Amino acid sequence: MDSVFAVIITIGDELLIGQVIDTNSAFIAQELNKQGILVKQRIAVGDQWDDIWHALNEAQKLAKLIIITGGLGPTADDITKPLLCKYFDGKMIVHQPTLNHLTHIFEKLLKKPMIERNAKQAEVPDTCQVLMNEKGTAPGMLFEKNNIVFVSLPGVPHEMKWLMQNKVIPMIPGKFKTGHVVHQTLLTAGIGESFLAEQIKEVEEKLPTHIKLAYLPNYGMVRLRLSGYGFDKETIEKEVSDYFSQLKEACKTYVAADEDIPLHEVIGKLLMERKQTLSTAESCSGGYIAHLLTSIAGSSAYFEGSVVCYSYDIKEKVLGVKHDTLLKYGAVSEETVTEMVSGALKLLETDYAVAVSGIMGPGGGLPDKPVGTVWVAVASKEKIVAQKFYFRFDRKRNIELTSNAALNMLRLLICG
Ligand code: ATP
Repeated sequence: MDSVFAVIITIGDELLIGQVIDTNSAFIAQELNKQGILVKQRIAVGDQWDDIWHALNEAQKLAKLIIITGGLGPTADDITKPLLCKYFDGKMIVHQPTLNHLTHIFEKLLKKPMIERNAKQAEVPDTCQVLMNEKGTAPGMLFEKNNIVFVSLPGVPHEMKWLMQNKVIPMIPGKFKTGHVVHQTLLTAGIGESFLAEQIKEVEEKLPTHIKLAYLPNYGMVRLRLSGYGFDKETIEKEVSDYFSQLKEACKTYVAADEDIPLHEVIGKLLMERKQTLSTAESCSGGYIAHLLTSIAGSSAYFEGSVVCYSYDIKEKVLGVKHDTLLKYGAVSEETVTEMVSGALKLLETDYAVAVSGIMGPGGGLPDKPVGTVWVAVASKEKIVAQKFYFRFDRKRNIELTSNAALNMLRLLICG
């Protein structure tokens, strides 16, 4: 059995000038992947007849399934439908169920007359199978030629998603014999991509061609994703799982999670399991660590609160940082951050606390404390650990890196 390949073609000038980000192909690729269909190529083309025509010709050389989105609307720039009509040697006919659906939308829901331009949306090439679009006015279409399936969907993301899930995915088993795609993801923290590659070199070199390893770095963390493709579900699941265990063993000091979840969710799970609580004292991250933690549903079970403290005054009055400490060592110092974390632990009566203080930039750097200098402290009732970091990016990225560094220190403290 051969692998089934797909090509995704997204249409619209707005995609080429960067006005709209092409989220449609990411969604379609994920959905196809779950069905064991491998996306060979994703192409974005403008609203140009010749370019779309050429893209269809080229896609046929690569794939058995071609999914197109966009350009189905009622305006002059929407040329996908007439183009597909010509491409598949058809003629336009009225699709009565779509016309009934449009009449219902205009008369009952919008309560306004349907103009001819809208009614025209019920016209489709007679060579297609219509995919009724319950979420909008432009119907989806399916064509078959030379054993290749072409699907055309509207560009509006929620309409495209509905049609993919309700019309396209259900027809896949009937049209293609697909294999199985298995993914397993490891979250590592506290190690850069190239060092990690050295660490797992031996496992990576052993991987067979049908199992691929991807490095996905992001703000101080690297996700390692193993993707296997095979026709027997159990065999491929076992194979991927064996290599996954070897990978995990090879970098075990840095493994934060053996599933695809962010670090703040890892912390949440650890605290939940242990029935323990956490607070934060944030001087340079403006509550971002608290925001990450509370973006997880159910976080109020372990997250007690945060003190966002930018001035000396608040650090002293609320967290009990000593005036002398601030004068002698400054806000961005081991001494201050240690007193901040102790203060949060005491004030908010939690099992753990995190404190950060740093210079996020672009201004505010000092000769001995350049922009990007950050002190992080994490504490339990028994232990305080403080560490200095230097981040060298813009303000937003420095805040994100600070937060992840703090969460990783906390993870290490919780895990002992
Ligand atoms: P409509 O009937 O609304 O005109 P359509 O099929 O003609 O649908 P387009 O006009 O191409 O679709 O796009 C409609 C809107 O959908 C665009 O304004 C854009 O915001 C969004 N869109 C189009 N293509 C994509 C894409 N690839 N990724 C994300 N959003 C998209």
